[in-house]
Amino acid sequence: MELYAVGGYSEVGKNMTGLSFNKESVIFDMGFFLPEIINFEEEIVEKGLISRDAMIRKGAIPNDNILDPKTVKAIFTSHCHLDHIGAIPFLAPRYDAPIISSPYTIDVIRRMMVEDGYNLKNPLKPVNLNSNFQINKDIKVELVGVTHSTPHTAILALHTPEGIVIYANDFKFDNHPVVGKTTNTKRLKELGKKGIKALVVESLYADLDQKTPSEKVAREMLKEVLHGTENSEKAIFATTFASHIARLQSILDFGNELRRKVVFVGRSFDKYIVSAEKQKLVNFSKRAMILKYRNEIDGFFRKLNKLRDKYLVICTGGQGEPNSVLSKIVNGQFQFEFKPMDQVIFSNRVIPVELNIENRRRMEEKLKEKRVRIFSNIHVSGHSSREDLRDLINILKPKNLIPTHAGNEKQKAFGELAEEEGYKVGVNVHLLENGKSIRF
Ligand SMILES: [Zn+2]
Ligand SMILES: [Zn+2]
Repeated sequence: MELYAVGGYSEVGKNMTGLSFNKESVIFDMGFFLPEIINFEEEIVEKGLISRDAMIRKGAIPNDNILDPKTVKAIFTSHCHLDHIGAIPFLAPRYDAPIISSPYTIDVIRRMMVEDGYNLKNPLKPVNLNSNFQINKDIKVELVGVTHSTPHTAILALHTPEGIVIYANDFKFDNHPVVGKTTNTKRLKELGKKGIKALVVESLYADLDQKTPSEKVAREMLKEVLHGTENSEKAIFATTFASHIARLQSILDFGNELRRKVVFVGRSFDKYIVSAEKQKLVNFSKRAMILKYRNEIDGFFRKLNKLRDKYLVICTGGQGEPNSVLSKIVNGQFQFEFKPMDQVIFSNRVIPVELNIENRRRMEEKLKEKRVRIFSNIHVSGHSSREDLRDLINILKPKNLIPTHAGNEKQKAFGELAEEEGYKVGVNVHLLENGKSIRF
């Protein structure tokens, strides 16, 4: 069996791994590198005017030249985050293979393709969590349900006559996920008993000595701000990742408790919410408004000036993105004026790249000029930390460990953790770079 480290082994982003058994292969994830994408003119990317090769040269998507397209039988994605699905329109056409994922993820991919104007030939196949997709008589892939910061995330288990390979990228162990089920640890334990040949696992926070707090903690943090500060007659804005359905649910709940109508502003929320409703995970449309078009957004903001305590606005702008709704407000591109003591709640973390840090700093400066109250880091991560990783290693007891979702530094931290659990870097812990492969 052979593993190809295509992308996500030299950076955080553009995740892609190939696994090959008996001249047949599967691909796990096809993501893009977010900081590189932000540098492109959004429109050019959306209309597909950039070729696969140009995107690879820019470093925006994985270089998949090490895979032989003829051998690839199926492409699986673990969940709907762009660092796992964003390269599909550029890379998938090279493979005569279906794209398989959980129903929510497939629905998001389908909407993304329609919205961005791509005509994808690869069939999209939804497979329920905690069930299998049979590739041929020897190989199948199982989707084990796991908690993360977006619904329907799967740990992928490749079953072959030579053993099982587990791909856990991304995950956390959350006992109170707010939306959706807890991780199927029972199944992970069963798989561990069968014997695992290799575990490919995220190592983003392998150096963080903690168990990642539950989404319930983020919910409590939001409650503290929304129910615990003076906000009557003030405008309230909240930002988070559009795909973070559980977080949106919490903000919506507390907004309603404050007797405010919750309004999602911006096109990016729509596809994630509509997909989540289709999967019966939430029902937001009943209790909130979703505004997509410029004229309805303009009308709403004019009204909000006079009725600022009747609404809670959820919008984009957590990374300080110049195109976001919040940026446009502070730059005077919408007819809404912040007043002193209005509130902006950042229920997300700034992705720590220079561009985002600088954008966000500029945005906060402008908010502070208007004496807006800022609540930062009302957030917990969706990623595993060192102690979640330790638990997963001990549940599965794999023969080989391959850290991913990070460059060398975090992979080394994962290596140290693995050595604490009796493994040895270079022997059964393999620190790979993009473009490398390894044989078990
Ligand atoms: Zn993710
Ligand atoms: Zn990720």
